[in-house]
Amino acid sequence: VPPQGPDAAGDPLAPQAAPDDSVLLTARGIRKSFGDNEVLRSIDLEVRRGEVVVLIGPSGSGKTTVLRSLNGLETPDGGTIAFTGGPELDFSAAVPKSGRFALRDRSAMVFQQHNLFPHMTVLQNVVEGPIRVQRVPKAQALAEASALLERVGLAEKRDAYPFELSGGQQQRVGIVRALALKPDLLLFDEPTSALDPELVGEVLSVIKELADEGWTMVVVTHELGFARQAADEVLFMDGGVVVERGAPGDIFTKPTEERTRRFLDRIL
Ligand code: ADP
Repeated sequence: VPPQGPDAAGDPLAPQAAPDDSVLLTARGIRKSFGDNEVLRSIDLEVRRGEVVVLIGPSGSGKTTVLRSLNGLETPDGGTIAFTGGPELDFSAAVPKSGRFALRDRSAMVFQQHNLFPHMTVLQNVVEGPIRVQRVPKAQALAEASALLERVGLAEKRDAYPFELSGGQQQRVGIVRALALKPDLLLFDEPTSALDPELVGEVLSVIKELADEGWTMVVVTHELGFARQAADEVLFMDGGVVVERGAPGDIFTKPTEERTRRFLDRIL
């Protein structure tokens, strides 16, 4: 039984288990090709509880494919993925669907586009997963969803439809929908890149708040200011490999690899 965080009962934004620095996820040698396109060439990743890992790198470097592999949306061609307390999936052999579903039970993904159901209200969108997939009693799911929406300032939008919300509000609902699943790991795939610039801040501040609350997350983003502030570790990917990894203070101020330097020069 994981230790319960001090705020786990009181604060709906708090993760289920308190960060304790133990390893939550280990991925080793993840490989993936689409046809002739070798997209991931042996990616290693270790994520500790409470840690924020940020993936940066040029478009097409494989960042999204890493997230999708961790979430069981993509099947790697090789390598292993294991959550602590769960089975180690070895993708060099055939992994049954149940294995990928087991991965999906442990993490929740926030997509670039919020992917909300357009015909459902905000509240219905948030409780859909807990009720239908996790079989949480309806009253409990509704109460928890309401508390989460209140915490991100969307209480009065619970009965609105997605089209009635701003892009930033929609993305905050997307985040709440992920939180409602009570995953061990949150995966963010460029959560602000589809937003108008003036809406980016409100979404990043929710993610930063979750990081401060102790949530474990892997974030793909081009927002280097966010990475500097929130990341425990930054991985720079290029061409399907992790070129360089380290604390944001090191990666951003004294990258050791030429490719990292060139990327940062372009984007900063
Ligand atoms: P990033 O997130 O760094 O932009 P991606 O992981 O999205 O990179 O993509 C890496 C490469 O894999 C790109 O060349 C992309 O076109 C290719 N790719 C991603 N998903 C698929 C897919 N489902 N089918 C074919 N090619 C894909």
